[in-house]
Amino acid sequence: MPTIAHGYAAHSADTPLAPYTFERRDLRADDVRIDILYCGVCHSDLHTAHNDWDGLIYPNGTLYPNVPGHEIVGRVTAIGDTVGKFKVGDLVGVGCMVDSCDHCDSCDHDLEQHCAHGATWTYNSPDRITGENTLGGYSDSIVVREDFVLNIRHAEAELAAVAPLLCAGITMWSPLRHWNIGPGKRVGIVGIGGLGHMGVKLAHALGAHVVAFTTSESKRADAFKLGADEVVVSRNAAEMAAQAGKLDFIINTVAVPYSLDAYLALLAVGGTMTLVGIPSEPHPSPSVASLIGGRRSLAGSLIGGIKETQEMLDFCAKHHILADTETVAMQDIESAFARMLKNDVKYRFVIDMATIKPAA
Ligand SMILES: [Zn+2]
Ligand SMILES: [Zn+2]
Repeated sequence: MPTIAHGYAAHSADTPLAPYTFERRDLRADDVRIDILYCGVCHSDLHTAHNDWDGLIYPNGTLYPNVPGHEIVGRVTAIGDTVGKFKVGDLVGVGCMVDSCDHCDSCDHDLEQHCAHGATWTYNSPDRITGENTLGGYSDSIVVREDFVLNIRHAEAELAAVAPLLCAGITMWSPLRHWNIGPGKRVGIVGIGGLGHMGVKLAHALGAHVVAFTTSESKRADAFKLGADEVVVSRNAAEMAAQAGKLDFIINTVAVPYSLDAYLALLAVGGTMTLVGIPSEPHPSPSVASLIGGRRSLAGSLIGGIKETQEMLDFCAKHHILADTETVAMQDIESAFARMLKNDVKYRFVIDMATIKPAA
């Protein structure tokens, strides 16, 4: 039998999210049903709810009603007949994907996010079997194929601060691992927000020398606390100039269009800058000379595969790494969105799903 879920949905691009009751599918043999305890609030949630990515990320825009949320942690309440990895009562997570084709070259190499047939995103994506639009984690339960469910090995008391690892954490972890960041490497993290604060923590834990870049003098002390070895206020020309040619790798989280040349100039010979934020309008083209000059690379990266996401979660559990979060009630999601747009959060909102239960 399908089960009833209580969630919050956007019903159009310009109306506030509102309570929405819907069905979660009956368990397929390889499905896990999860009671959602916390869900992080990602910029993608807001942009999807507001249909900001029509044609940019989503070929058909946002389909309404849209239930956002892809930083999900919760507890297993039921399993399908063939599920072997999970049992009822387990603490688990679900990130940005809930399915993929399983047989293309990307899927064969644990890169489901690059599935040749298109990964099934946790929300606003057609279910691979029924074609129905997926509905995300701003709800009290979800049903997900077991291969896309992650084990959570943190303490239960830490769950709220684990949720943002499922998108923000893996978005930073995957490029750090792909470009072999560790001891002896100098890494720049540009933008100290939901993504960047995780980047500083993870790069520091991997043993790199971390240089945090922020536009805000007020974040300087915080960035040191997060684990930065140096902090550069990017409006300060002298501080920027002092880093010229010094960084082996940069992860740039900034998602507004601006000139990338100032950061390319900070890369050492052979260095790479990876972009993880998608601006709504293109960045101005960087100078080819600044790429050729130091044999520098400009790259991009999108979340990470399921195997890599589990690796990141296990690393974070072992090293006691959590996101810095502010917990909000489901009813307060619109004020959380408004504050997020002003960067008025340190550093991630997390919804406490206990607040969603309908009045008895
Ligand atoms: Zn996200
Ligand atoms: Zn595939």
